Amino acid sequence: MSDQNSAREISRESDLGDDRFFDPDIETASRSALAALHEEKLLELVPYAYERSPFYRKHWSEAGVHPRDILTVDDFRERIPFMDKDAIRAFRDAHGDPYGGLLCIPESELTAINSTSGTTGDPTLVPERWAAGGSGPALARDFWELGVRPGDHVAIPMFTFRGPIYNFPHVLGAVPLIFDHSPAELPRICELVRRYRPTSWYTMSGPFLLALAELEQSTDVDLRDVFSSFSSIVFAGEPLGVRAKANAERWGMPLFHHSAAGDVGAAFECREHDGLHVWEDVGFYECIEPDATGPGDATPVADGAVGELVATSLGSDVFPLIRYRSDDLDRFTRQRCACGRTHARLWTLGRKGDEVIVDGRSVLPVDVWGAVEALDETAAGLFQIIRTQRQVDVLRLRVGYAGAPSDLGALAGLIADSVEAGVGVRPQVELVANAELLKLGPPHKIPRVAKR
Ligand SMILES: [Zn+2]
Repeated sequence: MSDQNSAREISRESDLGDDRFFDPDIETASRSALAALHEEKLLELVPYAYERSPFYRKHWSEAGVHPRDILTVDDFRERIPFMDKDAIRAFRDAHGDPYGGLLCIPESELTAINSTSGTTGDPTLVPERWAAGGSGPALARDFWELGVRPGDHVAIPMFTFRGPIYNFPHVLGAVPLIFDHSPAELPRICELVRRYRPTSWYTMSGPFLLALAELEQSTDVDLRDVFSSFSSIVFAGEPLGVRAKANAERWGMPLFHHSAAGDVGAAFECREHDGLHVWEDVGFYECIEPDATGPGDATPVADGAVGELVATSLGSDVFPLIRYRSDDLDRFTRQRCACGRTHARLWTLGRKGDEVIVDGRSVLPVDVWGAVEALDETAAGLFQIIRTQRQVDVLRLRVGYAGAPSDLGALAGLIADSVEAGVGVRPQVELVANAELLKLGPPHKIPRVAKR
C-alpha cells in the first residue's frame, strides 16, 4: 500500500467492512477449481471455434491439428498453435474478411463494432454482441474492490473501447459520467466532478496528467478539491513517470494501475498494490519464454518470472482469441494475493516488439523513461525509440521538449548524459516539440517506438 493512499484507504476500508468481494465464490476459487474450469471451457471452445471460424480451421489444419486431438489441457498446450495480430491482419487482407476470419456468429447478430487503438499498426476490429455478456461482471469485481458502491458516480473519460464498458457502473448500482478522453474535455470534467463528486475515475493517462498540470498553471482550478471525492483513479496505457506521479500525489489522486491482458480481458491493481489481477474465468493465461516459435518449444516460465503473455478468451463466443501472443512482457504469478483473491497477477514491463538490443544490451522504453523525465525541459517523458530493427548499433531517441529552449544542442547533450547514466548506453538524440509527439496519439498514449 503506498503512503499517498493509506489514509483514505483505511477510512474506505472501514466503510467497506468485510464486504470485499463482489463475487466471492469465483474471486477466491481454489486453484484446482480454476483448473477444472479451464479444462471444461477450453475443451468446449476448441471445437466451437473450429466449426465456425475460417481462420482457426485454416490455421490449425496447417499445423496438423484437429479438435478431436484435444482432449486435455495438456493437449491444448502441446498442440494448438499460437496466433498473433499479424496473423489476423494477414487473413483479413488475403480473404477480404474484416474480422480476420475470427467471427463465430452471424454478422447480423452483432450489437457493435469497436476497434483497437492501433498503437502497433492499423487498428483491428473488435466485434461485440452486448446481450451475450456485456461489459461484464469481471469489470464490476475490480471496481467493487476499488470502492464503487450503489449510488456512487463513476467518471469515465474513455478512449477506443466504448459501449458495454459503461455497463459496469450499472451492474454495481452506480451512475457513469461519460466523457471523451480529450484534454479539451478537462475543464468540463472538473466542473461536473465538483457537482457529482464521483468515487472512481476510469481512465487516467499520461497525456491527461500533463494536460491537468497545464490547466493548473493557466487557471485557478484547485485540483486537490477536484480529486477529493475519489477512492480510486485508474491509470492506464503506460508506465507512470516520476513527475506525473509527484503531481498525482500532490493532487491527492489514489492511483491504481490497469492494463489490457492479452486483448482478452483486463488487469487491475487491487487495494494491495501488489501486481495487476487478471480474471482466469474470463481468460486462460500462459506466460512463456518470449523466444518460443511454436507450441513445441513454448516453455512456461517459472512462477514470478518474466515471459510473454499468451491469452485465450474463455468468455467470448463472438470473436474468441485462442493462444494469442500478446507481445507483452510481464512478470506473472499465480500466488494468492494478500487481498484473498486466487487468480493470477502480473506486472507489465513493456512490449517485446519495443525492445532494442544495443551492443548486446536490452533496452525497453521503461528503461529510458526516468532519464528523460529527469530534465525540466523533457519532464513530460514524451519520447520514442527509433527501432529500425531489433539489433541496432546505436540507441536513437526522439525526445519531446516543452517551451522554447535557447540551445537545443546543449539540451540534447544533457539528455544523452542522463540516458547514458541511467541505461548504460549513450544515445543519439533528436529533439521535437511535445505537441508534435502528442499528435501521434491515440490520445491516452503515444507509440514508444518508431521505425524511422
Ligand atoms: Zn489482490
